[in-house]
Amino acid sequence: MSATETYNKLVPEPTPHSAPYWEGLNEHKLLLQRCRSCGRMRHYPQPMCPVCHSMEVEWIESSGRGAVHSWTVTHHPFHPGFRDDLPYTLATVDLAEGVRMNAQLRGTRLEDLRIGLPVRVAFETVKEGLTLPYLVPG
Ligand SMILES: [Zn+2]
Repeated sequence: MSATETYNKLVPEPTPHSAPYWEGLNEHKLLLQRCRSCGRMRHYPQPMCPVCHSMEVEWIESSGRGAVHSWTVTHHPFHPGFRDDLPYTLATVDLAEGVRMNAQLRGTRLEDLRIGLPVRVAFETVKEGLTLPYLVPG
């Protein structure tokens, strides 16, 4: 879909804790949080470290490289905005930085999917001010 079409899917509502993540996507950067206290990487964006409970955080640009951990193929549109995308593959990937993320996986055939498949993050501007990540093999 081009950015000029009407975007009729649910859209994220950035919070003060997640705003750097969304701003990074608009610059085609996948930003991950790293705890300034214990060094633990985390994703999705959250205000507090789940390990040491520190609220001190820094943002690290991910390599965008990872490997498929799991996936599901969606055949039913749970929101009408996704009807035209069907069927689509939602993958959970282990990023090289040691965290997991979920995104649509595109550009691969079902029969080629496997655990450990190398993937990289790509970016799609879906509407003004909103860029979303997706995954492609590679
Ligand atoms: Zn910590």
